[in-house]
Amino acid sequence: MEKYPLPRDKPCGGGVTLRAASQAGVDLGPVVERTIYGARISLRLGAHVDLWHPLPLAFMTQRCRLDSYLASLAAQAGAEIHDGEPAVALKWDGAKVEVRTNKNTYYSPIVVGADGANGLASRILGARQTFEEAVALEGNVPFPPQAAQEWQEVIALDLGGISGGYGWVFPKGDHLNIGVGGWKYAARLLRPGLQSLCARYDLRFHRLENLRGYHLPLRRPYSPLVGRGILLVGDAAGLVDPLSGEGIHMAFVSASLAAEAIGAYLEGKACCLSSYVQAISRHVAPELEISRQLHELFHLAPPPYVLLLQRSRHFWRLFCHLIRGEIDYRGLMRLLGPLAYLVKYFSHLAQARRQNRLRLLGLLP
Ligand SMILES: Cc1cc2nc3c(=O)[nH]c(=O)nc-3n(C[C@H](O)[C@H](O)[C@H](O)COP(=O)(O)OP(=O)(O)OC[C@H]3O[C@@H](n4cnc5c(N)ncnc54)[C@H](O)[C@@H]3O)c2cc1C
Repeated sequence: MEKYPLPRDKPCGGGVTLRAASQAGVDLGPVVERTIYGARISLRLGAHVDLWHPLPLAFMTQRCRLDSYLASLAAQAGAEIHDGEPAVALKWDGAKVEVRTNKNTYYSPIVVGADGANGLASRILGARQTFEEAVALEGNVPFPPQAAQEWQEVIALDLGGISGGYGWVFPKGDHLNIGVGGWKYAARLLRPGLQSLCARYDLRFHRLENLRGYHLPLRRPYSPLVGRGILLVGDAAGLVDPLSGEGIHMAFVSASLAAEAIGAYLEGKACCLSSYVQAISRHVAPELEISRQLHELFHLAPPPYVLLLQRSRHFWRLFCHLIRGEIDYRGLMRLLGPLAYLVKYFSHLAQARRQNRLRLLGLLP
């Protein structure tokens, strides 16, 4: 079931890192508008440094294209796509889930809740209420005539400006996508932040099209994943990477873990869907936890990390390995050796400090 008629667009930068693409299980080539080999890194709208990698780092697409392409591949593989048909109610009767839509009522032993950050499935399982939230605001601007060459194979990342997030410029086939994100309580800074980022890159804010914001759900260790015949994946499960704000990667990963667990259940090899919970605990949760720690540490004092990224080839290469999926966060921690304990310790301190400040400001209960 898809709420809107396909192709539908949605608020998203449409950046698919190599690590995400490698989990898609299909060739994304037909919907890739640009392949990215470099990043233009700046600190708080200051001077930027262009950093390059010989191999691709990310693919740029648009969600209206990517998502309907994936839906068409699913249809070719036998799925029956009901677009423009939102689920309006989900009810577990002890043996199957009743799915009511605006057109019909369906019954299924299992429903996969892939309905995103605001979805029904996540709300019914009580997951959404447990998420910490980030927010982002983005829009598109046609390529300024002189800029098309300049943005061929590079994205811009402006770091350290907005609490909990960053600004980006992502080049697409015929336009630039520009956006900013941060902690939910920094939402009021997004619009002025986006205006400043536009000015920084000589883009006209008032010419932005499709300006829109949305949230990014970040799960907590106790956030539910399965219950009442429903299994949550992607944003519905709160699987956005806190450090990068990337959600497509874990949406792909969780979808394939869910498929394995459902397959085992339907073939009678498993008595319930708890193998999905175990798989997320083993493969996804530790990654998101380390990402959360690095995120807290980074936002405690961004300048040294940004300077390190701009000046150290070694640090940049490590960043590329992460984006390309050649190393994961756990691999990074192993590389850090005993320093990993310091990351954990100081990230707890950073989180406690941030939360205390928010309580003082009345932004946290
Ligand atoms: C501004 C912004 C920029 C971002 N940029 C990036 C980026 O560049 N790269 C990246 O990796 N991540 C990015 N993210 C995160 C990314 O968009 C999400 O993490 C990702 O889309 C999650 O995929 P999903 O399939 O779980 O959910 P979604 O992509 O949100 O899909 C959910 C689908 O469910 C449908 N739906 C909702 N309710 C119902 C219903 N009741 N019945 C039927 N269908 C329903 C929706 O219409 C939608 O099609 C960004 C997020 C934001 C807000």
